[in-house]
Amino acid sequence: MKLSDYPINALMEVTARPPIVFVRGEGSWLWDSEGRRYLDFVQGWAVNALGHSPVPIAKALAEQAATLVNCSPAFFNETSIRLASLLTANSCFDRVFFANSGAEANEGAIKLARKWGALHRGGAYEIVTFQNAFHGRTLATMSASKKPGWDTLFEPKVPGFPTATLNELDSVARVLTEKTVAVMIEPIQGEAGVVPATREFLQALRALTEERGLLLIVDEIQTGMGRTGTLFGYEHAGIRPDIMTLGKGIGGGVPLAALCATERVSCFAHGDQGGTFNGNSLATAAGCAVMETLLAPGFLEGVVARGEYLATALGRLSERRALGAVRGAGLLLAIELGREIGAKVVEVARERGLLLNSPRPNALRFMPALNVGFDEIDSMIETLDGVLAAL
Ligand code: PLP
Repeated sequence: MKLSDYPINALMEVTARPPIVFVRGEGSWLWDSEGRRYLDFVQGWAVNALGHSPVPIAKALAEQAATLVNCSPAFFNETSIRLASLLTANSCFDRVFFANSGAEANEGAIKLARKWGALHRGGAYEIVTFQNAFHGRTLATMSASKKPGWDTLFEPKVPGFPTATLNELDSVARVLTEKTVAVMIEPIQGEAGVVPATREFLQALRALTEERGLLLIVDEIQTGMGRTGTLFGYEHAGIRPDIMTLGKGIGGGVPLAALCATERVSCFAHGDQGGTFNGNSLATAAGCAVMETLLAPGFLEGVVARGEYLATALGRLSERRALGAVRGAGLLLAIELGREIGAKVVEVARERGLLLNSPRPNALRFMPALNVGFDEIDSMIETLDGVLAAL
């Protein structure tokens, strides 16, 4: 079938979509309704941690769908207990609340910090966030985000999110008041164009927040679940945050997210937080399959090796085509293009069967499956090289 055969106007138009309908995926590849194959280095914006329709997730979903889908969050279910245990056993957190999207997990983190502030800091509720941060599209998470252009959208915003500058500790110290309860940060700002918080900054931020009795929240929706070569991004800095949010990769493409907190901070009372789909058996079964795959011996080492291979190949491409810096960690990488040709590169690459992402007009971001083949990285570089030559 062609695009014109589909009644696409039944969908709300919230973004400009290319004239393609995808019908099947396998690993690093997608097929459209006309049988064309695409090499996918976007993977649903880093959600398909194990690629398209991976066997462990397909199997877990099929078995769970035939057993129990959702008994309601008012009851315990086995897969949510198993996944929460895997997360707490492999992080510095003690308690998990499951959500259905990254934004919802961040809403939960904001509520948890505000509740903690009400109980322990005389009603302090402000959460410092950073210039260009991205935390989601609900009203509170849009208010916490500092994406250029969003400041005037959907007014009035939710108050209580003063702004600091990434990697500048003084800018944080300057906005702290008696109303501050927490600082929220992405270890690598993904939507801003893969801009890392430095190790030194994260360590200094942890020290400052500890000294002032404030909570440190890491938004690991993009950097968590093996994406940067460690299970969670905060590990690179050797710090212990109080709260972490996960999304994207945790469900391997299935809607699932998590709010993780230390025992000290886990202060929700009955009724403070919930939702009918939260922690359902089906989604958490997919989460268990992802987590068990990431924890298998050698898997994360494989992510590191693939990340180094991709970064080296991008570095060589940058030299050959006179592009700019390569930045990021593991398999969350970006390259500076030097010119505002990102959208054009994405368009021409797609015409040549390669899916790429340009989070900023002058940068490309790479978020392949964590098990992407080395040959697939070669193939992506070859196509991208051709696209840049053509432009
Ligand atoms: N936080 C970060 C760092 C993200 O990258 C995203 C999505 O790109 C979100 C939050 C929002 O997640 P979701 O789109 O699942 O609501």
